[in-house]
Amino acid sequence: MATQLSQNALLAWYAETKRDLPWRHTSDGWKILLSEILLQQTQVSRGIGYWLKLVERFPTPISMAEADVDEVLLLWQGAGYYSRARRLHALARQVCLPLSEGGHDGVLPTTSVQLLQLPGVGPYTAAAVASIAYGESVACVDGNIRRVMARQMKLANPAVKEVEHWAEKNLFKPDAGDWNQAVMELGATICTPKRPKCDDCPIAQSCSGQHDATAYPEPKKIKRKRLDLMCELRYDSSGLPLLVQRGEDGILAGLWGPNMAEKIDVQSLKFIGEVKHVLSHRDIFVQVWLGTCQQGRDPTTVALSSLDRKILALADVQ
Ligand code: SF4
Repeated sequence: MATQLSQNALLAWYAETKRDLPWRHTSDGWKILLSEILLQQTQVSRGIGYWLKLVERFPTPISMAEADVDEVLLLWQGAGYYSRARRLHALARQVCLPLSEGGHDGVLPTTSVQLLQLPGVGPYTAAAVASIAYGESVACVDGNIRRVMARQMKLANPAVKEVEHWAEKNLFKPDAGDWNQAVMELGATICTPKRPKCDDCPIAQSCSGQHDATAYPEPKKIKRKRLDLMCELRYDSSGLPLLVQRGEDGILAGLWGPNMAEKIDVQSLKFIGEVKHVLSHRDIFVQVWLGTCQQGRDPTTVALSSLDRKILALADVQ
C-alpha cells in the first residue's frame, strides 16, 4: 500500500521548477481554455505559437463568435485535429447566445458543470479550466496523471474510476489549480513514459512502482489503420491549384485542399508520386495525379492541412 502523497513536496517542486509557459501568466478563463484545447493534441513547444496567435486575434469569446469559422481554421493551420478548431468556434458562438437561449451572454461560464455542457469540452478540459482559472476544487484526470497514479500505486492497468478516485483523494483543495498543474507537470517532465527521473522526483517516497516504473501503466496496444487515397492535383495556367473545401465530417473536415477520394478517374492525369502522412492512429498514403483546370485558388488564403501542403510541395519539385 502506498504511503500518503506529499502535497507540500510536490507543490514546492512545482513552484520552483515549473516551465515558463505563456498561459501560466493569465487567469483569464477563455485564454486558459484555448491553451487546454490546443494542448489536447498538440505538443507544448508547438502549441505556444498557436496560442499566441489565437489570443491576439481572438482575445474573447465574442471576438471568435463574430468571426467566420474559416478564419479560425486558417489560424489553426498546421496544428492538426481540426475538429477542435471547429468545435471551439461553435463553443464561442454558444457562449455568446443570450441567457434566454441557453447561452452565457458572451461570458465563459466558471463552473466545471457548466463548462462541460459546451461543444468540445470533456471532463478533463472542464476540470482544468474551472480549477486553474476559477479555483474550483475539482481534480483533473489526463494521461500524465494516470501514469503518475499507476506508478505510485503500482497498477498495470488502472480503470478510469480508480484514477478519478486517486486524483480526488489526493487533490489539494485550497489550490486545486496549482495542484492539478503540478501533477501534470510531474508527468510531463519527471515521470515521463520512457525514462522517468525517479532520483529527481519530489514524491518518490510514496511511490510503490519506482523500481520498475516503465512497467506501469502497461502500454496500450494501438492498432494502426491504413488509408489509401487518390488525389487529383490540378493547376490553372497561372500556376494556382484547384482547391475545394471539404465537408463537415472526416479527418480533414472544413479544410481546403485538392480533391481526394478513395477512387478517382485518372484518365488524362499524370502520376507524380505518393505522399505518406502519419496521424496518431492512422497512416495515410495518397497517390497524387497531376492535371489542369480553368481557375485555381491562392493556397495562402485558405486553411490547408499539413497533408495538403505536402501534396502541393510534391508538385513543386516536378
Ligand atoms: S518515483 Fe519515479 S515512477 Fe514514481 S512518481 Fe516519481 S518519477 Fe514516477
